[in-house]
Amino acid sequence: MTKMLDINNISRRKLLLAAAIAAPAAVLVASSAEAAKVSQASVQYRGTPNAGHSCGGCKLFTAPSACQVVSGKVSPAGWCQLWQPKA
Ligand code: SF4
Repeated sequence: MTKMLDINNISRRKLLLAAAIAAPAAVLVASSAEAAKVSQASVQYRGTPNAGHSCGGCKLFTAPSACQVVSGKVSPAGWCQLWQPKA
């Protein structure tokens, strides 16, 4: 019976260790992905459309408020120089 409890405790420890390692790793992946993006200023991002083009119609837009290549929060009504039409 004692041996069974030890096995359960070891398994629980391994699970907690795996969770402790995985959580910071997920944060690092998310952080490095954001760091690889260009700044809003460098692509003249603005919060309003340009000539009828806006983030909501751009293939790089990720709803509800992100961009695959531009850092920070972007508005579906925004626009930048990297705008590309959705296919
Ligand atoms: S217009 Fe610019 S900021 Fe907006 S989704 Fe497209 S690439 Fe991103």
